Amino acid sequence: MSTEQLIFEQGAPGRRGVTLPLMDLPERPLSQLIPREFLREEPAPLPEVSEIEVVRHYTHLSQRNFGVDVGFYPLGSCTMKYNPKINEDMAALAGFARIHPLEHESMVQGALQVLYELERFLAEIAGMARMTLQPAAGAHGEITGLMLIRAYHEQRGAGHRDKVLIPDGAHGTNPASATLADYQTITLPSNARGGVDMEALEGVLAEHGDEVAALMMTNPNTLGLFDENIVEIARRVHQAGGQLYYDGANANAILGLTRPGDMGFDVVHLNLHKTCSTPHGGGGPGAGPIGVAAHLVPFLPGPLPAKSKHGYYWEDAGPLSIGRVRANCGNFLVLVRAYTYIRSNGPDGLRHASESAVLNANYLMRALQADYDLPYDRECMHEFVFSADRQKALGVSAMDIAKRLLDFGIHPPTTYFPLIVHEALMIEPTETETKETLDVFIATMRQIAREAVERPALILEAPHETVIGRLDQTLAARKPDLRWEAEKRPEKSAVRV
Ligand SMILES: *Cc1c(COP(=O)(O)O)cnc(C)c1O
Repeated sequence: MSTEQLIFEQGAPGRRGVTLPLMDLPERPLSQLIPREFLREEPAPLPEVSEIEVVRHYTHLSQRNFGVDVGFYPLGSCTMKYNPKINEDMAALAGFARIHPLEHESMVQGALQVLYELERFLAEIAGMARMTLQPAAGAHGEITGLMLIRAYHEQRGAGHRDKVLIPDGAHGTNPASATLADYQTITLPSNARGGVDMEALEGVLAEHGDEVAALMMTNPNTLGLFDENIVEIARRVHQAGGQLYYDGANANAILGLTRPGDMGFDVVHLNLHKTCSTPHGGGGPGAGPIGVAAHLVPFLPGPLPAKSKHGYYWEDAGPLSIGRVRANCGNFLVLVRAYTYIRSNGPDGLRHASESAVLNANYLMRALQADYDLPYDRECMHEFVFSADRQKALGVSAMDIAKRLLDFGIHPPTTYFPLIVHEALMIEPTETETKETLDVFIATMRQIAREAVERPALILEAPHETVIGRLDQTLAARKPDLRWEAEKRPEKSAVRV
């Protein structure tokens, strides 16, 4: 057996990793405790392993994983910032981690206070009247926000509005959420500066103004560029009777500097697992609270955390509420982490974080601009997008560059997104990186640009230094083989990770 096999194919019949305490109750046959129809005929095929085998297995897996605690992770749009360990300490406190969602209000006053105050902090950050903390992710916030917008229009007798305008650089979740919410989407082209093309917007509003339910936008957008026309865009959409939805997954650039509410937005979601630092990726857990302007408050899901002179309590939603969008109060421990993040940074700290995120992105962009094409050459916000077109002409794609970065212990940037940039490399350093780290990244990217000219084969065969080389990425995502199964193996296994 190779070491590799030893990591996976472990155990032997009868081997145990735990010693159970001696039974101090009279022994009774299982069939007396569990109805016979629920009993197995044969014991379940479970792994039988010793403690050291389990420890080595998981430690080994953890070493194969790339995370923000391992190295630089400039995955654009995902805001992979460092997650301060104090967040984990707070989320692990028994008073938070071990309470039950249905415990009586009087028993969980501290937890309710956290939710009550967090809602207020987030509303202040976003410039909104109130928030719901229920949505479990950004996309969940989007659909909740669109449901609110629909309820609002219906209540005003404008339920026929069935179109949602979305700029062509938008995150894929925006059109997906709009479609799921039963809206038709209209794509708005970008102008040469990377913002919304005002003439196109005017044209769409002239033709469909009365059918527009909302415009969904992120600002700064996915090119990392701030749309300076936002106030005018908001004015025109409102004039046509539409609402403005802010995709606030990219709020890391704006904390304490500007607020979606001040730009004219009516609904905002914030990705707490990005902006407020919670380990994320691989599907969760997250939190995508949404905030609304005053006219939408009656439609919010309930209950909402409230406070009286007797203490904190849950206030039921009113008759216009769209209803619950998630059980209990949302992903509570993610909310505790976000609360800790906000409290430990304070208003000045949050603003400083955004300023540093923007500074770091501009530093990288300017340092590497001679080596990679920059289709939108403007001061950026928290991220920017290069095109690898120049390297592609030499036979090296954005994907190849991404793979080569792995050899240097650097997580690749987001590739092939936004769709409006060919061979896109979307780079978001975040505020938490040191200048030394940024300089290593610059040197590495320059080296790869040189290799593309001098030794393209080196890049095309990368990664050379990782445990696993190139994968069939679709299969790896769609059919990952992550499960141990007794004897029978899945027929079409993609990769062991
Ligand atoms: C990450 C992201 C989303 C989706 O958020 P999830 O929490 O993954 O659902 C939406 N929009 C933008 C711009 C994002 O970066």
